[in-house]
Parts: sequence; C-alpha cells; structure tokens
Amino acid sequence: MIELLQTLNNLIFPTRHICLLCKEKSENREGYICKDCYRNLEILDKEIDIDSPYIKRVYYSISYNRFVREKIKDYKYNGKNYLYKPFSEIMIKTIKNKNMDNDIDGIIYVPTHRRKEALRGYNQAELLAKYISKKLSKPLFGDSLIKIKWTKEQSHSNKIDRIINLKNSFQVKNSNIIENKRILLIDDIITTGATMEECSKVLINAGAKEVVGLALTSSKNN
Ligand SMILES: [Zn+2]
Repeated sequence: MIELLQTLNNLIFPTRHICLLCKEKSENREGYICKDCYRNLEILDKEIDIDSPYIKRVYYSISYNRFVREKIKDYKYNGKNYLYKPFSEIMIKTIKNKNMDNDIDGIIYVPTHRRKEALRGYNQAELLAKYISKKLSKPLFGDSLIKIKWTKEQSHSNKIDRIINLKNSFQVKNSNIIENKRILLIDDIITTGATMEECSKVLINAGAKEVVGLALTSSKNN
C-alpha cells in the first residue's frame, strides 16, 4: 500500500519538480530552484579584482548571504553533493550574461588534495565544473591541474597568509592539454582570491594562454 501511494505520489509530483535547495515540491521551479528559494538569492554576476597578473577576470554569481552560507556549508561539509545542480545552473547564467562562453576553450576546477577528496567523497568544485562543461559543451581539462600539498583550510586568514600557505600546492600534470588554451577556472567560493591566483599562476606558467575565474559566491570584502 505504501509503495502504491509512493508511486501515485511520484506520478502527481515527479522528483523533477522538487526544489533541490529546500526539498519542497514545486511546479514553479527554475534550474532546480523554487520561487521561494530564488527570493533568498541575490544574483550579482559581479566581477571582482583579485589583483593578480595571472588571471584576466574573476566573477562570482550570488551574494554570500546567510541563506547561501548555510547551503554552501551543506554542500561542502554535510554531504549534500546534489547541490551542484542548482549551483551550476546559477553559474551558467553568469557565464551567459557575461558572454564568457565564447572566450574559453575549456574548463578546469580548483583541485583538492586526493586525501581530502577521499575523506569528503567528492570535490565540490569538480562537480560544478563537470556539470558546466557538459551543459556548455566545453571540454573539461580534468586532471590537468592537481593539488600536491596538503594545506589546512584557512577561511579566516588574510590573503598574504593564504598565499604563503598555498605556495607550491598545485601542479600541472599534462601541460600539452592546456597549452595555449583559454581556461575557465571554477571554484565554489572565493574567500581571499589566493586560491584562484595560485592556480592561475601555475596554469599560465605551464603554457595556458589565459585564465578567467568563476565562483558561485564570494566572502571577500571588496
Ligand atoms: Zn526551494
């Protein structure tokens, strides 16, 4: 009986109508997000200056308000990895609004150390990049950039400390893949810009033509 009810329920409210941010069923949904949740998002499509010679432009999509902070926490630490879908859809809108898709040859994500990924089960930036790459039909230069040094999360330290901490953390593996390419670098959140800067530096030094950055949100003061 319960199974029958579930079947009926799925027929009336198929899972494709579920908002992934609040898990409520909604007919009025856009990019996996219901109208109520959308009201909590402040779409900015904002360019920020991270003051780096290695990265041409950096954007983020939405304001880091309380609602978004909680969702990011769920995404990174509470195992809600399915949030990559609504997050990626928001980021794709920024890409389109800023006409970024015509200026890139492929996509790379900020890598995590393989031990950290093993602990968490996934890399949150990789899930975003994979979805965006598929939707935009742009190649994912997946394993080209790797993290070779285990670094502590320093969400409260300043940019200088983070740059020192991240020094020699990243490495390009197959430089022939990224050579002379215009790359879109994806992360979930920008805190100081140090990670974006360090990754771009390694990519440019390995022969990439240009790097532009995009994150879902940013807690950086500017
Ligand atoms: Zn919702």
